Amino acid sequence: MRLSRYFMPVAKETPADAQIVSHKLMLRAGLIRQTAAGIYAWLPLGQRVLRNIEQIVREEQDRAGAIELLMPTLQSADLWRQSGRYDAYGPEMLRIKDRHERELLYGPTNEEMITAIFRDSARSYRDLPRTLYHIQWKFRDEIRPRFGVMRGREFLMKDAYSFDMDEAGARHSYFEQLQAYIRTFRRLGVQAVPMKAASGPIGGDLSHEFIVLAPTGESEVFYDAAFEAEDWSSHRFERGDTAGLNAFFKRLTSVYAATDETHDEARWAEVPADRQRQGRGIEVGHIFYFGTKYSASMGMKVQGRDGAEVVPQMGSYGIGVSRLMGAIIEASHDDAGIIWPEAVAPYQVGLINMRADHAGCVAAADDIYAKLGGLAGGRVLYDDRDERGGAKFATMDLIGLPWQVVIGPKGLERGVVELKQRRTGEKQELSVESALARLAG
Ligand code: ATP
Ligand code: MG
Repeated sequence: MRLSRYFMPVAKETPADAQIVSHKLMLRAGLIRQTAAGIYAWLPLGQRVLRNIEQIVREEQDRAGAIELLMPTLQSADLWRQSGRYDAYGPEMLRIKDRHERELLYGPTNEEMITAIFRDSARSYRDLPRTLYHIQWKFRDEIRPRFGVMRGREFLMKDAYSFDMDEAGARHSYFEQLQAYIRTFRRLGVQAVPMKAASGPIGGDLSHEFIVLAPTGESEVFYDAAFEAEDWSSHRFERGDTAGLNAFFKRLTSVYAATDETHDEARWAEVPADRQRQGRGIEVGHIFYFGTKYSASMGMKVQGRDGAEVVPQMGSYGIGVSRLMGAIIEASHDDAGIIWPEAVAPYQVGLINMRADHAGCVAAADDIYAKLGGLAGGRVLYDDRDERGGAKFATMDLIGLPWQVVIGPKGLERGVVELKQRRTGEKQELSVESALARLAG
């Protein structure tokens, strides 16, 4: 993409209304534009990152055996009356009337809808277990939308829902999602720790919030560094291996990790001081098992293997896809701007021509652009504008692409270009061929 033909409205000044670094950088780098309180337009660069995050989330859901569908944003109030939540939900729910005075709502979550959809088709134990998910916009009329996309009113969420014949099965489905989350966050380049969350309406140990450590996080978190030493995603269990699974959860919950809501000073004191990690954290995901709460209230039953009717056991599993963009920036930036992990970067390479008025530089930059475009599949953002070199450097650092290639007249005379890695700041002079080879591999 040539910057001279792109839409990337970057701003020099730090926006006055933004309090945290990710919000400031998202506005300055032209990723988002606020259109109403807690509601954002995703500008081209932001949209590309959002799509990359979404795709990684999707691939890991698919790998875990979850099945994608897409439910609408608008839901009928009657659906929520079946579970009793229409009246219980409170003012976070945006309630709407259509022209026939029928009551609708903009979905804050989808337990009711997925239960109704699956209930109307699932007949017997052969139809279970299943985990269904979608990636869809949600609306919650947060009392205090703030921190940009971190606490928006409209936000993108991946929400998955599992249906099992019994509790042992539900624990397995929960385990599959827990592992998918660990893989997802690792691929996204963020360190997210599952922490015991306040137990849901039916109690039990199966409720975890995934928290990314960042000084601007909304909750206080405490965990044992032993957590990071183990690869929790490498465990494998066959369905039905209840003993193995129980042992896994026992181990997982024996390593201390809690938010301020579940923090236990006595247990914390038992963690050796050099392993105590304490700080602020951002919730990027939440998984929980809630038994038959929705299946029972919404009249879902399937026939068991022995012919008796069974009310399925359910769990739900959310990831804040749009919030993650803020969390990634909180965890990965410096004074000059964003530092995108390669997996989510909007483009991999920023190509800078220092002198748009220099025929030799233009020819060389155009040539490299064409070759990189061929090699890297259009993953190059080419600053071909007629602007000062210094401003171009500042913009490239701000938008945080992993690699920069700089073409200037002095280097060209010696047959070299400069390759800079954004994360380390490390610069190298290379021949055009070597630079192309480095970026290809
Ligand atoms: P929070 O305590 O932050 O309000 P929640 O418990 O209401 O979150 P869930 O209902 O579990 O959140 O939603 C799943 C995920 O959706 C959360 O882990 C979070 O990443 C994301 N999320 C929730 N509310 C918002 C919001 N207002 N803006 C952006 N993302 C959100
Ligand atoms: Mg909330």
